[in-house]
Amino acid sequence: MAGMLYLVPTPIGNLGDISIRCRQTLEQADFIAAEDTRVTLKLLNHLGIKKSLVSYFEHNKAQKGDQIVGRILAGETCALVSDAGSPAISDPGEELVQQCAAAGITVCAIPGPCAVITALSISGQATGRFCFEGFLSTAKKNRRAHLESLKNEQRTMIFYEAPHKLCATLESMAEAFGPDRPISLCRELTKLHEEVIRTTLAGAMELYTQQPPKGEYVLVVAGAPVIEEPAATTVDAKDRVRELMEQGLSRKDAVKQTAQELNMPKNAVYEAALQD
Ligand code: SAM
Repeated sequence: MAGMLYLVPTPIGNLGDISIRCRQTLEQADFIAAEDTRVTLKLLNHLGIKKSLVSYFEHNKAQKGDQIVGRILAGETCALVSDAGSPAISDPGEELVQQCAAAGITVCAIPGPCAVITALSISGQATGRFCFEGFLSTAKKNRRAHLESLKNEQRTMIFYEAPHKLCATLESMAEAFGPDRPISLCRELTKLHEEVIRTTLAGAMELYTQQPPKGEYVLVVAGAPVIEEPAATTVDAKDRVRELMEQGLSRKDAVKQTAQELNMPKNAVYEAALQD
């Protein structure tokens, strides 16, 4: 019988965030596939777990993926971990999940630490609808094109960012979204120096002219403001009824169609049509 693949999230800064289930899964797995075996070894030592480790990262995933799938098909259970947070989210794992799914292997994702969700919850921005945009390109042209495509995005937008790229990113965001767009800069989440700076793009740019950005960041940017369509007026209704009647519709049909088009009650359109 085939084994299983478990996606095991690990703490993004506070070791206390490892869950009982994650710990048990790491203990019970036949082997652990890790983004960086040295980082995972430290975690395993902290948890008092001894387990066989294989590396699975960006530059060996094509070849290692096949080996891992082969071992699981032969009956072993694999726990996949990244350096921190949830595997497969801007981290290795996406392709392994696809490979396992294609091979008919059961994949189980254990819920747990994830920087994007931690940041969104604490950001103070609207959480009802959001989109995760991962890391922006380091190439200015591609970064700008990516942000330009989000200019009219109304959902809250979430980005991962490294401190040394932050100022360039804020500048590109201010160009695309305007300097007044609200942003929450969530840094060092779950760590000793956790901080959430709720400001605007211009405010953030100003802040980092005084002090260099430090630590790991998630940027939570407000979506574009919703522009309400002005409600149709009686003048619009009267003009539309006249236009439709000139095209040959009876008054009754013109009123009916106008009411539908302008989303107005039929009697209001009728009254508007009768006005001088
Ligand atoms: N898979 C991970 C997750 O789901 O949390 C994310 C891995 S990605 C390679 C690393 C990025 O996540 C960092 O560059 C930063 O943007 C964000 N990040 C990770 N830990 C963080 C923390 N403690 N505080 C703020 N951002 C963090």
